[in-house]
Amino acid sequence: MRRHRNVKVVATLGPASSKPDQIRRLFDAGVDVFRMNMSHGDHEDHTARYNAIRQVEEEVGRPIAILGDLQGPKLRVGVFAEGAKPDLEQGQTFRFDLDPTPGDATRVQLPHPEIIKAAHVGATLLVNDGKIRLKVKEVGADFLTTVVEIGGQISERKGVNVPDIELPLAALSEKDKDDLEFVCKLGVDWIALSFVQRPEDVIEANDLVRGRALVMVKVEKPAAVERIGGIMEVCDGIMVARGDLGVELPIAEIPPIQKRLISMSRDRGKPVIVATQMLESMIDNPMPTRAEVTDVANAIYEGADAVMLSAESAVGSYGPEAVEMMDHIARSMEQDEDYRSTIMNSRTKARPTPSDAITAAAREVAETLEVKAICCFTHSGTTARRMARERPLVPIMVLTPIMKTARKMALLWGAHCVVTKNVDMFRQAVVVAIEESAVNGFATTGDRLAITAGVPFNVPGTTNILRIAEVGETPEPMTDPGA
Ligand code: PGA
Ligand code: MN
Repeated sequence: MRRHRNVKVVATLGPASSKPDQIRRLFDAGVDVFRMNMSHGDHEDHTARYNAIRQVEEEVGRPIAILGDLQGPKLRVGVFAEGAKPDLEQGQTFRFDLDPTPGDATRVQLPHPEIIKAAHVGATLLVNDGKIRLKVKEVGADFLTTVVEIGGQISERKGVNVPDIELPLAALSEKDKDDLEFVCKLGVDWIALSFVQRPEDVIEANDLVRGRALVMVKVEKPAAVERIGGIMEVCDGIMVARGDLGVELPIAEIPPIQKRLISMSRDRGKPVIVATQMLESMIDNPMPTRAEVTDVANAIYEGADAVMLSAESAVGSYGPEAVEMMDHIARSMEQDEDYRSTIMNSRTKARPTPSDAITAAAREVAETLEVKAICCFTHSGTTARRMARERPLVPIMVLTPIMKTARKMALLWGAHCVVTKNVDMFRQAVVVAIEESAVNGFATTGDRLAITAGVPFNVPGTTNILRIAEVGETPEPMTDPGA
């Protein structure tokens, strides 16, 4: 089976989407990547979800990517007396301290001594998704006194954001390390790191992941935006995590940051997901707002690899409908002439490497001739990523003998991943490409394909052949450059 769009759909699993039939329904609606959020649920829940996804994968015969999203150093307040939810009023003082005694309308525990130490007078504290804003008036050895600037209801374990304090925290908490090892052993294809601040945070995670998954950085701290160049050097992809980013930065700064992050990712050939509140109103409604549809369309227009659903699919009543809506928006956008010219005009120059020369040429061929698909043989997925970077206007068939590679690349823009038998001669590769393009509904007799591969086979990083083939032809052994 194939999808009729380039952009991919990521759906977060949660209480509304954990049963095998619910996961199957989401896949049928169009999900390419499932996200398991380690902030919620225990290892048993995640194992059950993981197994259910792999079951669907087997049933449908299409590689599915699974993204394990680590919680990261999320700050939270302590508890309140008897579950109280005091209303904080503008102008009042409120104290954060290290005392675990349940809080009230005047104080609460902030169980993070490092933050109290790193805070300065005038720093902003945001509670409950930024709904409550407080300014630090006094920094004590074990407390902060603040003045409420924007009031609201506070309750136990609510999240705290400190946009202008650089967190002197390890990138990975003990829970994160434990979850990281767990999801790696489980077999996830991608790991997402939350609240990354510096390239070193990613390097630390890479050392623990040890190549067992690809590593995605969630850009949700101003510090990460400032250091994005260095961060992109060491990660495999990024997520524009607009939820926390929109709390930590003035919300009107998010659209240009989104644009910049997408164009930087595209230039580097690293996949980028646009996330959070994309179809938020569909948590409770079968139809989204016009603004939400336009938001999803814009992310597609900017050339994002994937658009993501969070609460819509995790806890919402209309998860499959939200996925279908994303699929509809994508298909309608991608047929538009303007979209095609925007994608073409926003490409950046290929790097001077054989792999980029071949993938750029394959794209040129596809634009010059009527080619139905670009078939791209890859082991590690590197060539697939360089091919997706070109944003060709025909589908990319990623052909690999390695299931893990096929799963990882399922996130890539335009990639249709197929696990093939082992190929060790170019002539055989042409036969496989022709077969798979027919079986997967990309081409029939008489159609042309562009095929890229590296000879000798089984040596990573050797992409050096570009061939135009016609479906129905039997490759001549005599003229085969790789035979
Ligand atoms: P979250 O990350 O859903 O884990 O908070 C995404 C975001 O902040 O946008
Ligand atoms: Mn977040």
